[in-house]
Amino acid sequence: MSSKMASCIFCKIIKGEIPSFKLFESDKTLAFLDINPLSRGHALVIPKFHGEKLTDIPDDQLSEILSVTKKLVKATGATDYNILQNNGAIAHQVVPHVHFHMIPKPNETEGLGIGWPLKAADMDKLKGYYEEVKSKM
Ligand code: 5GP
Ligand code: ZN
Repeated sequence: MSSKMASCIFCKIIKGEIPSFKLFESDKTLAFLDINPLSRGHALVIPKFHGEKLTDIPDDQLSEILSVTKKLVKATGATDYNILQNNGAIAHQVVPHVHFHMIPKPNETEGLGIGWPLKAADMDKLKGYYEEVKSKM
């Protein structure tokens, strides 16, 4: 086992070394309540495979994430909600084990607050960028 895995707080939750309110568990997926909820029902869905960022997790280890997230939405009764997955410290990732937040948005003040600074694109630049990325897909 790598030292990163041994010290990982979510790997410890998976192993039961740290207590948590587990809501769903299978061979490759775990869902549990977030300990600092932004709203009632704020929960995390994680692959059991340890990896820091989304691209570190093999596709087959991610296959249940969305269906389990949907189960959480239904179980909490959330009608408005955000699914969020942060990668990297500057992108607000605090725990370096991939996790998907399901955050109910019951009203304006509770849940995730999002500043969304939309700016109209320069269409020539956007097209140039599109060609570049599309060629790598
Ligand atoms: P991030 O900012 O990395 O996307 O979010 C990490 C989340 O993990 C935070 O919402 C934080 O409250 C949650 N968290 C951190 N440590 C623990 C823990 O020990 N138990 C649980 N249940 N959640 C945790
Ligand atoms: Zn881990």
